[in-house]
Amino acid sequence: MTDPASSLADVKSRIARAAAIARRTASEVTLIAVSKTHPAQAIAPLIEAGQRVFGENRVQEAQDKWPALRELHEGIELHLIGQLQSNKADDAVALFDCIHSLDRSSLVSALARAMDKTGRRVPCFIQVNIGAEDQKGGCAIAALPALLAEARTADLPVIGLMCVPPLEIEPAPFFALLDKLAGDHGLAGRSMGMSGDFETAVMLGATHVRVGSALFGARG
Ligand SMILES: *Cc1c(COP(=O)(O)O)cnc(C)c1O
Repeated sequence: MTDPASSLADVKSRIARAAAIARRTASEVTLIAVSKTHPAQAIAPLIEAGQRVFGENRVQEAQDKWPALRELHEGIELHLIGQLQSNKADDAVALFDCIHSLDRSSLVSALARAMDKTGRRVPCFIQVNIGAEDQKGGCAIAALPALLAEARTADLPVIGLMCVPPLEIEPAPFFALLDKLAGDHGLAGRSMGMSGDFETAVMLGATHVRVGSALFGARG
């Protein structure tokens, strides 16, 4: 396996190349290193190589790993990229710097309550079920305007939209659709693109790419 520093350099240069082709700059794209399932020993070398923004998909796992890792270095930013249960909203608001999985009304209320309680306002992405898949998380495209209005009324800082396109279909049309929806709603953030497709996502306007296996190797 290649070392984390060279994987990181490789992913960054691929982001820069895709951005340049699309007449964008790499600084418009935040690389979220998705460290779910990987132990602290695997994460520390990436921090040492300069990576500061990480993604986890489970509140409990992040609570177990990150308090200690955060002591290794200043300026760690932690993003929640997985489904969030309403009863974990308090914990999520306390631990994470950004939440990518706001997808329903009950979670709007739970997050608003958690943020009001702590005074900590955590930026959120609304996750959209962009391929209208039965089993997928995310709000239906038709439900997006109402959910966004609710979130804005509740004073949640919604900064963009997030999607995970259907597997095994060309993702570009779904990225283009998310980009359009974000634009239509006046949202600057587009959280889209994973290890297999982040260059396509960058070319289509991604502001946040969520990359796991291309940095850490396959998950066990
Ligand atoms: C695991 C995960 C990723 C990263 O996936 P890779 O293919 O390993 O890059 C990105 N986004 C979400 C929502 C994930 O759950």
